[in-house]
Amino acid sequence: MTNVATLDFIHTNRDRYVSELKDYLAIPSVSALPQHAADVKRCAEWTADELRRIGLENVALVETAGNPIVYGDWLHAAPSTGSGQAAPTMLFYGHYDVQPVDPVNLWESPPFEATVRDGEIYARGSADDKGQIFMHFKAIEAHMKQQGRLPINIKVVIEGEEEVGSVNLDRFVESQKDRLKADVVVISDSAMFDRGVPSICYSLRGLVYFQIDVRGTASDLHSGIFGGAVVNPNMALAQMLAQMKDKGGRVRIPGFYDAVRPLEAAEREAWEQLPFNERQYRKQLGAPKLFGESGYSTLERVWARPTFEVNGMIGGFTGEGAKTVIPAVAMAKVSMRLVPDQDPDTIAKLFEAHVRKVAPKSVEVKVTRMHGGHPWITSYDNPYVQAASRAIEQGFGKPPVFCREGGSIPVVFTFQKALDVPCVLFGVGLPDENAHAPNERLDLSNFHNGIVASAILYDEIAATR
Ligand SMILES: [Zn+2]
Repeated sequence: MTNVATLDFIHTNRDRYVSELKDYLAIPSVSALPQHAADVKRCAEWTADELRRIGLENVALVETAGNPIVYGDWLHAAPSTGSGQAAPTMLFYGHYDVQPVDPVNLWESPPFEATVRDGEIYARGSADDKGQIFMHFKAIEAHMKQQGRLPINIKVVIEGEEEVGSVNLDRFVESQKDRLKADVVVISDSAMFDRGVPSICYSLRGLVYFQIDVRGTASDLHSGIFGGAVVNPNMALAQMLAQMKDKGGRVRIPGFYDAVRPLEAAEREAWEQLPFNERQYRKQLGAPKLFGESGYSTLERVWARPTFEVNGMIGGFTGEGAKTVIPAVAMAKVSMRLVPDQDPDTIAKLFEAHVRKVAPKSVEVKVTRMHGGHPWITSYDNPYVQAASRAIEQGFGKPPVFCREGGSIPVVFTFQKALDVPCVLFGVGLPDENAHAPNERLDLSNFHNGIVASAILYDEIAATR
């Protein structure tokens, strides 16, 4: 049970939280643009000062080859009385860097002057991710101010390069496994299922990405003089790609589905109950008709089934007018979203073997593997996910739905691999809050309920022992 005084403290400090968050949002910590390097540094220092203000210890700016990582902890939680076991340790991860603001003329108010309109705070970084990390800072502060202590041990890691690939974070986590040791990782950097539908995401898809280069001849050829004597690389590539997927939307790479974890009956039933309007979804996308693997609903297709996509194709003459040419080369970029328990390396090998099999002898084919990542899943009956579920129910007045996400958050796999502990995605953004786009915003009632839920979460995690 969370102490009443702690929760009262949160309710009475509502306005102060918003004005402090405005100061945080005023720092243009755009990691992608070199002209903001000093702002990024200033934002790291602001974050470190804030960690000290709320009562964390061992606060440090960890220098990296890029932007500093801000670290702080508080490790004096009492062992639980009955069991004599040590109190659990939570590692909280977030990022203080933000996306660029272009096109800035589409913003209704300046991106770094946070403005409240209709219960939402508009600024770059409000939802992604400063608002969501600030929610935890204030929950920690409330416990420290009212109780002088925290119910669990907490380690906080706030990086400044999430929007540019987290390269140095990966190295930091890998090299500091002992320092970061924890029982659970909590991340608040995602959206809930819908307005008024708090959720916990328990699975993400992975990715493999390839470039395919096809060469037919040494140079482009006149289609009148040579047409009929050689293969056309555009046609060869199109025919190869056409053999990757059947008309029912099923990927034809042999072995592709072997490791796919089937959906559980309970999951399918739960997702059917979600407030998902397929007609509205189709209209929003401007698609004449939805299409996907037969036998699965739309949510199942995007959350729990792997895909094969052609991201781009280029070859031959694409200018104005007509030019009769047989191109020498054609190129495509393709990717596959992966689901548990598909392994990116295995899928990459299967894909390359299939490309070799379907490639005609009349062309040279080169396959280049690009970036990618592992899929992630955690069982939603693990005690920490259940603790988060109880915290959300108390903070938001209704229990969360459990959902998966079609995209990838690489840092989740980084922590999972290095620390081998469950990860709880505790996000309070909304899907239409324009993270990465103009007019990014955060709903202030979700922000406030999120502070309450975070404060309760720490007690609920303590109660797992
Ligand atoms: Zn983010």
